[in-house]
Amino acid sequence: MDIKKIEKGMELIIEGLGKNVDKKKLKDTPKRVAKMYSEIFSGIDIDPKRVIGKVFKEEYNELVLVKDINFYSICEHHFLPFFGKVHVAYLPDGNNVVGISKIARLVDVLSKRPQLQERMTNQIVDVIMNVLTPQGAMAIIEAEHMCMMMRGIKKPGTKIVTSAMRGIFLRDLRTRTEALYLISPSIHI
Ligand SMILES: [Zn+2]
Repeated sequence: MDIKKIEKGMELIIEGLGKNVDKKKLKDTPKRVAKMYSEIFSGIDIDPKRVIGKVFKEEYNELVLVKDINFYSICEHHFLPFFGKVHVAYLPDGNNVVGISKIARLVDVLSKRPQLQERMTNQIVDVIMNVLTPQGAMAIIEAEHMCMMMRGIKKPGTKIVTSAMRGIFLRDLRTRTEALYLISPSIHI
């Protein structure tokens, strides 16, 4: 990441805001913003497949659900935050399981980059399908988008929910229902 370039870019934005902006008060802002970007975009150079890391050999083929993983990301259309919760479920192939914290780490790496909620939902399940070869994987993201609150249609409190299903979660209604029920007992299928 080219921190100097981000600093320059921020300087240009401030300049572009016009002569009535007090430049003196914003003197250190480009530096601060560049430093902040290096943190909130720290997932860009990390391969999400490698995040999963070690796969454990364990004879377990029941549902694994990691729910309420908090995340913050930046929408690539407006460069404003969107944030919320991710729920991830997978049904192992009877052989491969992963350290639970690795799922949260995967969400972290995929959210710390310019992102779209729909794409992130797909990426989570695709990485899990790829690395763990489970019977199936599922991800649900509930998020609020600052670009819907601060600008445009200005609808605070609106939640966008996306889901991606692979393998058995697509084919088998019972498995899908079990996962959805564990995520939110109020969901009735
Ligand atoms: Zn947006």
